[in-house]
Amino acid sequence: MKCPHCSYKLHFFSKALNKFGNPKTCPKCDKKIKLSPNYKMVAWLIVPVFLAHLFIVKPLVIAAGFSGSGIVGIWGVLLIIFTMQLHSAEQL
Ligand SMILES: [Zn+2]
Repeated sequence: MKCPHCSYKLHFFSKALNKFGNPKTCPKCDKKIKLSPNYKMVAWLIVPVFLAHLFIVKPLVIAAGFSGSGIVGIWGVLLIIFTMQLHSAEQL
């Protein structure tokens, strides 16, 4: 993930991003940044992910002997994590 101000590369698990509370600050340029999912991308991905879940993942999970219903929640969480982006939290 890149800082929206200076394009400094921040690791998802870096200290700067794992501090509690928002906004966080970029360790390079000291400007305020916040981490939030890209909802547009979530909206785009939700249908293919749901279909993949329904036709590929769920039958496998059920075949493995688990209940398939809890998996949808995990997909939702994964989708949000994968689309996380850094946004500027500076006052304009
Ligand atoms: Zn920065």
